Amino acid sequence: MSTEAFNYCPRCARPLVECSIGEAGGVSTVRRACAGECGFVQWNNPVPCVGALIEHEGDILLARNRAWPEGMFALVTGYLEAFEDPRSAVAREVREETGLEAVESHVIGNYIFERKNEVMLCYHVLARGTVALGEELAEYRRVKPEKLRPWKRATGLAVADWMRSRGLPFEWIERPSLPTERDRT
Ligand SMILES: [Zn+2]
Repeated sequence: MSTEAFNYCPRCARPLVECSIGEAGGVSTVRRACAGECGFVQWNNPVPCVGALIEHEGDILLARNRAWPEGMFALVTGYLEAFEDPRSAVAREVREETGLEAVESHVIGNYIFERKNEVMLCYHVLARGTVALGEELAEYRRVKPEKLRPWKRATGLAVADWMRSRGLPFEWIERPSLPTERDRT
């Protein structure tokens, strides 16, 4: 989970209570904090994730997570391991989820995904090899770069920025809602 929902302090096991921690430019400053003296505050900082716009043999490879509805395809994404470099993480996710080797990766940009309180670190990844899907993915789809149709959130914004950088015109689409919260590893 990106938004840890503790009821008790993970340090000293006392209850957490809501408290104001001061002003910060219009952003809510109420946080859950330890009712005791240990000083624990549940900051609820966004969790970083990597997202890969995979280019393979001239196509963009989009994937459908097993938890997603039919017809919904997106970038390959995943959480970083502890202390992992983001570029290593995106190469690892590409390898684990598609079986492909990342030959080059270039930063597209960083995007907040409000619903899950995550920051997506998105890369364009040139990959080679033979596709062999990992257990998280149900299927994949090859799309010509000029046929991509981004949605206006998180990884979709990365797709749009990448298309703009290539001079490719595009139209936005509506994204279907997801059935589960836990849709990446
Ligand atoms: Zn405590």
